[in-house]
Amino acid sequence: MINSKVVASIITIGDELLIGQTIDTNSAWMARELNEIGVWVHRRLAIGDQWNDIWKALEDEGNLSDLVLITGGLGPTADDITKPLLCEYFQGKMVIDEGALENVKNIFENILKKPMIERNLKQAEVPDVCKVIPNTRGTAPGMWFEKQTAHSTNSKTIFISMPGVPHEMKGMMSQYVLPKLQASFKLKPVIHKTMITAGLGESFLAERIKDFETALPASIKLAYLPNYGMVKLRLTAADNNSDTASELSSHFCILHNQLKDIVVTDEDKSLQEVVGNLLIKYGETLCTAESCTGGFLAHQLTSIPGSSTYFNGSIVSYSNEVKHHLLQVPNDCLLQHGAVSEETVKFM
Ligand code: AMP
Ligand code: MG
Repeated sequence: MINSKVVASIITIGDELLIGQTIDTNSAWMARELNEIGVWVHRRLAIGDQWNDIWKALEDEGNLSDLVLITGGLGPTADDITKPLLCEYFQGKMVIDEGALENVKNIFENILKKPMIERNLKQAEVPDVCKVIPNTRGTAPGMWFEKQTAHSTNSKTIFISMPGVPHEMKGMMSQYVLPKLQASFKLKPVIHKTMITAGLGESFLAERIKDFETALPASIKLAYLPNYGMVKLRLTAADNNSDTASELSSHFCILHNQLKDIVVTDEDKSLQEVVGNLLIKYGETLCTAESCTGGFLAHQLTSIPGSSTYFNGSIVSYSNEVKHHLLQVPNDCLLQHGAVSEETVKFM
């Protein structure tokens, strides 16, 4: 068991990530899950399926982190080179893993009901210097390596390679990687507290709370996360000792008091969740009359489970005819002020 802060790098591999064809959702999901159990992700890197680039990334990140998590490049096709590269990098040789072979055979015989080809058998090969991470959702096994690096002190740096397919990576992380990390390190969850403010832009907000910000101890960090019409404020305890939680809470209360008039919620919730909770609390219901938003408000509101208890429906009045016939906006108003005007909105 190691006590100090555990820091991680995430490397996502695949040309598709660099040309904007696939959005790298893997690293965001992994970072959240790691954060949750108390691992600090301090670097994220996306690289193409290029031998030298992957090699250099392993070298660089291994020298900086306790953990290096890698996704992508494990497919059975020629463009995926992560596995042979890892084999060479960790100086192993490829062997068939019996468990992985069973898994591939089972998938082909019982799920796909198709004969296997040589290429599929290759999926069961792994470098003999890794621990195999079972893949319960696909054919490519994950791999766990350990290596002495410039960063290693008490223990070696851990390298974990997983498939790029999000569903398979998530299975491995939840069923194997996260529990194993929790068992190997003495981790404490990272503490965050978030509030959402609306109606004051980021720079004005910063001006208003500058004294609070200056007085914050070094152990607590304040982050501004602006979004359309709102700013999230997050306090994070950088070091996790026994006093941190209460220290964080008391600073959060001070901040909340200073911003009482513009705080929408003191939890990390979406605006639609906040609105939904208020409607439930006061026993009220809601309809929307929309135009340029094309029903987006209704979509947002109904994306919350249980929204049918307070949301009745929406009229998406895109044309003047619909505005007039369904929402009784007078034709005079539409002619005089136009469809996109305050006057029309009031009638809607
Ligand atoms: P691979 O393991 O490289 O064969 O990746 C298989 C598929 O997973 C790709 O076609 C991508 O669509 C998807 N994928 C790979 N990397 C990522 C990532 N970082 N985030 C989301 N999807 C990914
Ligand atoms: Mg790939």
